[in-house]
Amino acid sequence: MARHPLVLSAHPSAWIADSGLGGRMAAQAAVTCQFCGQPTAGWQVPYHLNDDHDDESPANLAVSCPLCHLPQHLNRPTVDDEAILIWLPEMAQAALIVLARQIHLACAAAGLSPTIYGDMARTAPTISAAYRAYRALYERSAMAELRLGTQSPRQLGAALRELTPPDYERRAALLGGVRMLPLGRFFEGAVDIYPTMLRDWGAPAAPSS
Ligand SMILES: [Zn+2]
Ligand SMILES: [Zn+2]
Repeated sequence: MARHPLVLSAHPSAWIADSGLGGRMAAQAAVTCQFCGQPTAGWQVPYHLNDDHDDESPANLAVSCPLCHLPQHLNRPTVDDEAILIWLPEMAQAALIVLARQIHLACAAAGLSPTIYGDMARTAPTISAAYRAYRALYERSAMAELRLGTQSPRQLGAALRELTPPDYERRAALLGGVRMLPLGRFFEGAVDIYPTMLRDWGAPAAPSS
């Protein structure tokens, strides 16, 4: 199935609309995200295909996981804690989300925090491999900084807002290989609900030691 590309976006309607989960859809455990193809396990949110969050017509709404929804919501107050900009032209945004989610799941399965601050390198080889992959992705943030002058999704969102409509329409070409790397946190209000999402996405419960 040809999937809709995920483009970093800052449409005015999204800027003022849902800065939270974007209105959870009725929980259907069996549906998969139409962008990354992974099971949503009840965490699906509506994604506005044409970027206009005032257009609620059924043809404009796709099922998305919260991670694939995030690039459309650079306005989220917590977005800079949830993601960082990296330069990764060789990988599509949705593929990067698949990889990040699997790394986070590997960490959670070992009882480790799925954030870059966890001390993953000293633990089991599979986690060490996941950690090295994560570090390699994270270090691409330096190249995003060189090209854009920032690693901050929120600052990029503010810059996109300044573009003329014709330039905004071709933002995917202007941004080139800029991608958004999820950092293993996702806030609902002040609460990080990402550990709950990971549990629902298939991580065994963390050891209680
Ligand atoms: Zn997804
Ligand atoms: Zn949205």
